[in-house]
Amino acid sequence: ETLLAIESSCDDTGASIIIDAEIASNVVSSQIDHQNLGGVVPELASRKHMESIGWVVEEAVKNARIEKKDIDAIAFTRGPGLMGSLLVGVSFAKSMAQALDIPIIEVNHMEAHILSHFIDDPVPDFPFLCLTVSGGHTQIVKVFDYNKMEVLGQTLDDAAGEAFDKAGKIMGLPYPAGPHIDRLAQKGQAVFPLPHPTVDKYHFSFSGLKTAFLYFLQKEMKKDPGFIDNNIHDLAASLQSTIVHILLKELKQTSQDTSINEIAIAGGVSANSALRSQLSKVGAELGWNVYIPKLEYCIDNAAMIAQAAWFKYLHQEFSSFNITADPRLKV
Ligand code: ATP
Ligand code: FE
Repeated sequence: ETLLAIESSCDDTGASIIIDAEIASNVVSSQIDHQNLGGVVPELASRKHMESIGWVVEEAVKNARIEKKDIDAIAFTRGPGLMGSLLVGVSFAKSMAQALDIPIIEVNHMEAHILSHFIDDPVPDFPFLCLTVSGGHTQIVKVFDYNKMEVLGQTLDDAAGEAFDKAGKIMGLPYPAGPHIDRLAQKGQAVFPLPHPTVDKYHFSFSGLKTAFLYFLQKEMKKDPGFIDNNIHDLAASLQSTIVHILLKELKQTSQDTSINEIAIAGGVSANSALRSQLSKVGAELGWNVYIPKLEYCIDNAAMIAQAAWFKYLHQEFSSFNITADPRLKV
């Protein structure tokens, strides 16, 4: 059985083919223009999806060495994400499925980030906890099954990825700043203390960290205009270590309270090298089975959509052709 999956929730256009539970191709076209614009411009993102989606799908089909007539169903990201971006993927999937006379499968982007753990072995045992950390979300999710998940806690304001990106912007780094901070931090020490917010158990708040970081830099720059340039590595390391500390503290608490030791991370920020190494370290100390995705499955990709769709396909869970995008779709 062969599925085509399309991902277009934000600024990356992705297509993937899954054949009998194995990913056969995974193509991503990134919209590098946004680097110079300081963030994702929704109007531009949807136009770019429109330009890319045709060849990205062709490429995925070609790389999997199949033909379009071999496809049994088409999956797409229904949400959450940017409305204009999602609509391109949903419309493309519907039209292509109509033409091939095959069913469609809607996928929740955040659930797919979590289910990316089933692409390769070892796979987590249900129930497991997943810290989903991305550009738009920061959640601790209890995963009972592929279609049964409960959000135990989440951010009350900015996502962890946003904290990296906004703080990076203040330091003059290009968008998205997360990977740049990760790279700069490798040569730095976490010498600058930054505040850790107090919020309810399992929840997060990152907007205060960003503001505190801004005020701290403004104060230091008044004394020394070269402060950011001269301390860029230590600033990156301090920021990164604070964010990782906040994330792991709540994850530890959740594991303790739920007695679940199967612990996964997912989403773009799970590519962060400090989060990955600290999680392995804490996991070894506490006897957790830790699941860390391959880098290509951390950032937005269509393979995770294909994997999530595979579970639905096995249960013949198809969507109506009346379906439309849902920018605020919840887990
Ligand atoms: P969502 O999944 O919530 O809809 P999104 O799809 O835009 O949001 P992802 O593509 O999953 O988000 O993740 C992008 C985020 O990951 C960005 O904020 C980026 O800075 C961050 N990120 C990527 N790599 C790293 C890294 N190595 N260190 C820290 N952050 C990173
Ligand atoms: Fe994402």
